[in-house]
Amino acid sequence: MTERAIVAGVPVDTRHWIGGRRVASPGTFTTTSPVTRTALAEMSRGTALEAEAAVAAARAAFPGWAATGRAERARILHAVADGVEQRLEDLAAVETHDNGALLRSHRRGVMPRVAHNFRFFAEWLLTLGRDDFATRGHTNHISWDPAGPCVLITPWNAPLMLASWKIAPALAAGNTVVLKPAEWSPLTASLLADIAAGAGVPPGVLNVVQGYGEDLGRALVSHPGVRRISFTGSVPTARRIAAAAAPNLTPLSLELGGKSPLLVFADADLGLAADLAVEQYDNAGQVCLAATRLLVEESVAGEFTRLFTERAERLRPGDPREPGTDLGPVVDARQLERIDGFVRRALAAGARAVIGGGPGTGDSGTGESGLHYRPTLLTDVAQESEIVQEEVFGPVLTLQTFTTEEEAVGLANGTRFGLAATLVTGDRARAARVAAQLVAGTVWVNCFFVRDLRAPFGGSRDSGTGREGGGWSFDFHCDVKNTVTAPKGWRDHG
Ligand code: NAD
Repeated sequence: MTERAIVAGVPVDTRHWIGGRRVASPGTFTTTSPVTRTALAEMSRGTALEAEAAVAAARAAFPGWAATGRAERARILHAVADGVEQRLEDLAAVETHDNGALLRSHRRGVMPRVAHNFRFFAEWLLTLGRDDFATRGHTNHISWDPAGPCVLITPWNAPLMLASWKIAPALAAGNTVVLKPAEWSPLTASLLADIAAGAGVPPGVLNVVQGYGEDLGRALVSHPGVRRISFTGSVPTARRIAAAAAPNLTPLSLELGGKSPLLVFADADLGLAADLAVEQYDNAGQVCLAATRLLVEESVAGEFTRLFTERAERLRPGDPREPGTDLGPVVDARQLERIDGFVRRALAAGARAVIGGGPGTGDSGTGESGLHYRPTLLTDVAQESEIVQEEVFGPVLTLQTFTTEEEAVGLANGTRFGLAATLVTGDRARAARVAAQLVAGTVWVNCFFVRDLRAPFGGSRDSGTGREGGGWSFDFHCDVKNTVTAPKGWRDHG
């Protein structure tokens, strides 16, 4: 096999990165572009063998990295951020080819955030700590000890953003890492391995292995030498990972799917509500946090729908590399089929498409690659129906109405998920009252997607376990220890 592919003019190594060197596997898998519908690269396909080698490398590198002073670890993480910034254009172009998300988002939002992830956790590391406190004259001293090798498993919808969101706190905490990116979008992880090596991350501290979940992924998460698993992906995969980790009692952080509500009250700024609702089509709806269930107070539903439709119809589908495109392709033909299956079943069950309701035209004149799905809004949907209860992960929203606050909260909380919720209201007291009743890891009031890395991030119910962000990430990635020291001359053990 060839050792590198040229993607958007950028050379990308197609081999794993294990123990500070490139390693090829006998088998390969193809990563295909949703933009051009052509094969981008033949990637080394890891199996249990590569899982073993990567965990062994992470274990060997752990004592040295754990003993590296905080200031030095922070310096190296800042150097990784510098490297990301220097290669921002390459990373953005390769990511767009690999997963189809907009180039302008990768340039302006996603890749700067990747760099910020490394800087943020480097800085937090330097402030990590809590004042000692006394118990009958004894001092309690709390420390955050590195836990060991971590396995980090990521999905395809925001590949490098989510990988860096996991790698940065793990490395800052003094852990070593084995990253397995999703098989549909593995390319930028390989570039990050190069960047990390150039920034001085020692061999074995960050390892990147590529392959499928059922063999490579499974071997990684069931490995007894792994001390933390952080996973972002779907609920069924999370269940398999939790079962595989159970015999080793490996601590898990699970960031999973969602079916988040957007509540619009009659006292809301309806223009703002419509803007926020249309934002849910970003990344062709392939966003875990997307508020895909619009819950609108009945008295304003007509006006809201008019404002929403007006805005949604202005969205321009097309080639995600073009600056004028608002809506790119979905990641893969199987994903397109899956999305359309949900919509067809909903329509057959009596739903009505206010807009959309099927795939795009696939018209090369508009830059559509054949993997576009039309922004869709379905109404006349029952709360218990599949389309309201299941995550579609495409540009498909539903609209339901309510007449009372109580009913709104009941509908909002009426799925098995609890990742996020957005509410739009002109009444601050109502906002506080409703927010307090919503089951969600994040509630946005009159805004959407405002993320601060100091805040906890995660979901309730089937949307996940645990929280990451700020100190929560260090709590997860460390073995937190309390050392209790008696004062000099203290004899009372009671
Ligand atoms: P997925 O669960 O199919 O795959 C995610 C990753 O798990 C991939 O790398 C895959 O190879 C790996 N995997 C699969 N089986 C495995 C196994 N048995 N053992 C170990 N690893 C295995 O998810 P996806 O389709 O790639 O991503 C979409 C899902 O991710 C959606 O449900 C979305 O909501 C969720 N997501 C959640 C967040 C969040 O922060 N909550 C963010 C982004 C995406």
